[in-house]
Formats: sequence, C-alpha cells, structure tokens
Amino acid sequence: MIVIDGKKTSQDIKSEIAARVAEIKTEGGKIPHLAAILVGNDGASQTYVGAKVKSCHEIGFESTLIRLEETVSEQELLRVVEKVNENPDIDGLIVQLPLPNHISVEKVTDKIKPEKDVDGFTPANVGRMTLNWPAYVAATPYGIVELLKRYEIETSGKHCVVIGRSHIVGSPMSILMARNGNPGNATVTLTHSRTQNLKEITQTADILIVAIGKPEFVTADMVKEGAVVIDVGIHRIADSSKKSGFRLIGDVKFDEVSQKASAITPVPGGVGPMTIASLLYNTLQAAEKKIYP
Ligand code: NAP
Repeated sequence: MIVIDGKKTSQDIKSEIAARVAEIKTEGGKIPHLAAILVGNDGASQTYVGAKVKSCHEIGFESTLIRLEETVSEQELLRVVEKVNENPDIDGLIVQLPLPNHISVEKVTDKIKPEKDVDGFTPANVGRMTLNWPAYVAATPYGIVELLKRYEIETSGKHCVVIGRSHIVGSPMSILMARNGNPGNATVTLTHSRTQNLKEITQTADILIVAIGKPEFVTADMVKEGAVVIDVGIHRIADSSKKSGFRLIGDVKFDEVSQKASAITPVPGGVGPMTIASLLYNTLQAAEKKIYP
C-alpha cells in the first residue's frame, strides 16, 4: 500500500516553480505577482491567506494582501476587484472565501478577469476546463490530478467514484477524471446527498475521491480491495494528547481503509498541502501568459 505524500509532492512543485522564477529573474522577465483580497477577520481565512502569502515569498513571487473591513459594501469590493483587474503588474487574483452574507459570491467571482482568475472559479475558466481547453483549474482538484499523475496512477478505463458535488471540489473533479486526457479517461460516477445505495456504488470504485465534509464517513466496508482512495476532507477534532489540543482527520477512516487500499492520501499531509502549490502554479502560468496568450 502506498501512502500518497502530498507534503513532499507540494514541496517538489514549489521547488520547480522557484527554479523557474530564478530563471525569469536572470532573463529579466516579469516576476509573478499574486494579489489576495481578504474581507473581515475570520481566523481560518486569515490563516489560509497568510500561508498563501508566505509561500509566495518562499518561491520568489511578489504578493499583495488587500484587507477590507467585514462591513465593506459589495459595490466597494467590486471596485477593488476592478482595480486589480486593471493593474498590469498583478498577474493573479484570489478573493478568499467565505465572504460576509451581504456580499454575493457570484457577483464578485464574475467580476474577476478570467485571465487573472488563478483560483479557477469564474464561469469562463470552469467552462474552458469542461471543454478541455487551457484553463485555470481550481486548486484542490488540480492538486489531486497532479498527485495521480506524479504517482503514475492509471485512471484510463477505471471506475472513478466521486463523493460530493461542490463547485470547488467534487464537480470539477468529476469533469477532470472523465475528460480525454491523462489523468482522465475514467468512467465517472458523481454522488451526492440524494444518491441511493451509496455503499454499493463506492464498492465498485477503482478510484474513490471523497469530498463530503463528514469526519471518517468512508469506512473499509465501502471500499473495494486495491482501490485508490483520495481523501479531501479536513476536520479538527479535540485531542488532549496533542500540544495544540486538536488533531486533523479526513472524510475517510484512514486506519481501516488503508488496510484495503492500494494507495491512499493521509490527512494531514495528503491533498491539503497540494492546494497552495496548485495556486502558485496557476499564478506562474498567469505571469507567463500560458492560458490566455
Ligand atoms: P461541501 O460544499 O459541503 O459539499 C459536500 C458534498 O457532499 C455535497 O455535494 C453534498 O451533497 C455531499 N454529501 C453530503 N452528505 C452526503 C451523503 N450522506 N452522501 C453523499 N454525499 C453527501 O464540501 P466541500 O467544500 O466540497 O468540502 C468537502 C470537504 O473537503 C470538507 O471537509 C472541506 O473542509 C474539505 N476541503 C479540503 C480542501 C483541501 O485543500 N484539502 C479544499 C476544499 C475542501 P449535496 O450537494 O446534495 O448537498
């Protein structure tokens, strides 16, 4: 059984990007520049954005963090997005989610110029991905694709079952696995909360991708012998034996499922670390105008 090491893979990707940035510097080219907009003071969002900015510095990117009050109006936020859209020095823009309830995520997402949408959330990039055109692919699904590729996991002709149909993970994952490419060419079943006989379906999965948001939902009896299991879930649970007072677990019961799987991502250290690496890769592509030449 292989434990798919997302931490190491993400470090490899960051090193590859850092090497490319060093080359760009030598060539006198444009240093990739990522802007992040953070609205309010949500602790988790601050941590996520902080980690993204820190990673930018580590690999030699420029970054700009734009902080706005929780009470900022939708119109003002749209104006800030517009300003970043028009700033030729900024290559990529992310707006950290969630946004306060009085702001429409759809309106804000739709305002981001597709050329700078390194989160891959705009309708233009989702559409392009679906058509199998060059596109910025959302960071989590892109990270999973990269893990499958780098671990040389065969996907062609396999039955891939995805649990969860969110816009940021499950849905794009199902499209990527079904499209004509490598990884891809799988026969995909996308499941959700209305799916009947879920266990019977997951038992037939050669590749099982779980993004349901329920701690340790997937148990060994749901998994076929030799399946590849990708666990997207992240949950903090209290653990007094840890200095921090908590530990992280996924949507999959790792101890028992790993006994049956041929390969599995752990939590932490699996899909999670890949997300930032994917965002950085998208930003490099934006600076080098690879998606929208
Ligand atoms: P989400 O938006 O809450 O979506 C959960 C999906 O699971 C929904 O499509 C829902 O179906 C489906 N579902 C719920 N109960 C079900 C059931 N009993 N049987 C089958 N399907 C069921 O979650 P998400 O944003 O995709 O995130 C999922 C997990 O991944 C969370 O733990 C999140 O924290 C984690 N996550 C991790 C990363 C990372 O970087 N590692 C990134 C993003 C998310 P309906 O559509 O019918 O409601």
